[in-house]
Amino acid sequence: MTHLVSVLVQTPAHSQLAGALTYRSELPLTPGTLVRVPLGSRELLGVVWEPEPQAATAEVPPDKLRDIGPVLSGLPPLSAHWRQLVAFAASYYQRGLGEVALAALPPQLRELSERQMQRRLGRKTAPTPPIDAQATVEASVHLSAEQQDVLARLHASQGTFVLFGTTGSGKTEVYLQCVMQLLRTDPQAQAIVMVPEINLTPQLQARFQERFAPVYGENSVVALHSGMTHPQRLRSWLAAHSGAARVVLGTRMAVFASVPHLKLIVVDEEHDPSYKQHEGARYSARDLAVYRGRLEGARVILGSATPSLESWYHSRPAAEGGRYLRLAMPSRIGADAQLPLVRRVDMNHQPKRAVFAPPLLAAITERIARGEQCMVFLNRRGYAPVLQCTACDWKSACPHCSAFRVFHKIDRTLRCHHCGYTEPVPRACPECGNLDITPIGRGTEQLQEHLTELLAQVRRPGSVTPERPEGLPVAIARIDADSTRLRGSLQSQLAQVHSGEVDVLVGTQMVAKGHDFRRITLVAAINPDGALYSSDFRAPERLFSLLMQAAGRAGRDATIRSRSEMWIQTFHPQHPLFDALKRHDYPAFAAQQLQDRRNAGLPPFSFQALLRADARTQEVAQGFLVAASAAATGQLSHLPGFDRVTLYPAVPMGMQRVANVERAQMLVESPSRVALQTFLNHWHAVLHATRQSPAGKGLLRWAVDVDPLAI
Ligand code: ADP
Ligand code: ZN
Ligand code: ZN
Repeated sequence: MTHLVSVLVQTPAHSQLAGALTYRSELPLTPGTLVRVPLGSRELLGVVWEPEPQAATAEVPPDKLRDIGPVLSGLPPLSAHWRQLVAFAASYYQRGLGEVALAALPPQLRELSERQMQRRLGRKTAPTPPIDAQATVEASVHLSAEQQDVLARLHASQGTFVLFGTTGSGKTEVYLQCVMQLLRTDPQAQAIVMVPEINLTPQLQARFQERFAPVYGENSVVALHSGMTHPQRLRSWLAAHSGAARVVLGTRMAVFASVPHLKLIVVDEEHDPSYKQHEGARYSARDLAVYRGRLEGARVILGSATPSLESWYHSRPAAEGGRYLRLAMPSRIGADAQLPLVRRVDMNHQPKRAVFAPPLLAAITERIARGEQCMVFLNRRGYAPVLQCTACDWKSACPHCSAFRVFHKIDRTLRCHHCGYTEPVPRACPECGNLDITPIGRGTEQLQEHLTELLAQVRRPGSVTPERPEGLPVAIARIDADSTRLRGSLQSQLAQVHSGEVDVLVGTQMVAKGHDFRRITLVAAINPDGALYSSDFRAPERLFSLLMQAAGRAGRDATIRSRSEMWIQTFHPQHPLFDALKRHDYPAFAAQQLQDRRNAGLPPFSFQALLRADARTQEVAQGFLVAASAAATGQLSHLPGFDRVTLYPAVPMGMQRVANVERAQMLVESPSRVALQTFLNHWHAVLHATRQSPAGKGLLRWAVDVDPLAI
């Protein structure tokens, strides 16, 4: 007997093939089974799906139906929970089901033949039984009172938790304990632990490995992130899918891991914007983690010293409508548990054009004299953001983008950070021939050079570490996206900082996140003012969390903690954000921000989506948006809740032109998530139609971004 099966394949975004395709099969196939199917002249990986109510069979004449290809036997089908997660993500983020499902699978699954696959599976190691469940390291860890309290409350209830723990309060230890408890009590249970950045996974993996490998075997902890090779990713994925791996550590993609016995999801640094995917299905891994936890009955822990205002708001007291349980760990681990002293330097009272205020320079010199380390950060890489002619008004604009090209002194290039367009620095002004072209503003490269000059006379007093014998000049290292382009270079540069070879570390926000530098006692933000008066309503939130994170880099080692300081150079020392920071008072900052957001009707008090359009001209890009808006008003006004949805005018994006593409966007907003989702679901077909209409002529692409992070 012949069966008809629905199969999802990877189809180009927005293609009409977004749903499932129908194939003939000799055998009935369970939904979730992985198969290969012919499409055109190719054979693609597909996932058997529940047949849709109005199945495509109606449209495909029986003689056109093709036979399904080989089944990837030996792989258990993807679970109903997994399929529901994918279906939810596709619907919520307005993307094709096939696109989301296939993107959630490891790339190599698509490439391997059935025979290669069998070989891979044959090699798969069986789940290691607990080697000696008693021989855990846990006995050696004496949990703080706060950690004990938090763990007790975690175990006492279910659902989603916000672990509001200051930097160094021992959140990671709480995650470890939670996982440990879980694995001990449930022989099958699995956990997903997510971190925002790839470069944080090796550190965390080492900690988890150290804790669990001796008890549950080497394969009990696996990683999943885009920095891995395809074979590595496949191996991890298979280990999770088969249930052999008990802990999956990874970046945002890990939220889609096939984990049949999921009981816990940890989202570390849950406020981090990296949890939002920026292309394709623009999902938030944090939000999907909460959804998935609810779906599968798994606990979800959202950990942060500065939770996102969304999570903070959702974790208000239950009596006020909060849905998450907030657990606080306000103290740092250790005898002298204080947080770094925050010092504001009023740049209005410093010598004109000083990059480093004299008191800051003195403080840095003092640390070096004591053999301690400093970290200086500035959120701009390169030497200077602009080159300018002193005679005419030529500036180093990128010919392809609405941005300036950045001057990189190291290789004397002008580089566009948006499209990558790079040229050697011209010897003279391209407009007027003047030889005097000068850098305006500064980036990390210049900061490093400048600091090297300022500290040229300083020598280290004595041999603090064998790597840096006394009398040598000060070593100033720089870590940013430029210095770490090569694979492995970040790890080796971090190792130099850890070993004590480096006295001062200059970097972008990259260095401010998560790293556990033991001997840093001074952290300085050189010029954080930009975010205070930004048009992006999330800028203050991001700045506050960045500065709290950065401050947390100082004094990780309790023995030198009492001397640790965070310096902020600012022209607005009285700004309430810095006030709250000085008091390490995130709740006060959050309360003030939420008040502002409530007054302005911004998230979390409203829900947003962006319709974006790209074209060769603004006119075309905006024309599509205007037509899409008119079509919505014309065709969808009958929808329930439509009167609660606001469509804003089409505008150019902040970065209007990138690589000769003009970009425009339109904001859609509603105080009701349901109203917004209902609208978006119906708008989808209207957008496809608009794309095909004259208003879509010349359009390069369009996309919907639900819960956008930057508008
Ligand atoms: P967070 O993730 O909150 O910043 P960590 O979990 O990294 O903090 O802990 C900070 C430091 O304190 C780490 O070096 C960790 O090993 C140590 N630590 C955590 N809990 C304890 C404890 N109960 N006893 C001793 N040291 C601890
Ligand atoms: Zn000129
Ligand atoms: Zn460019």
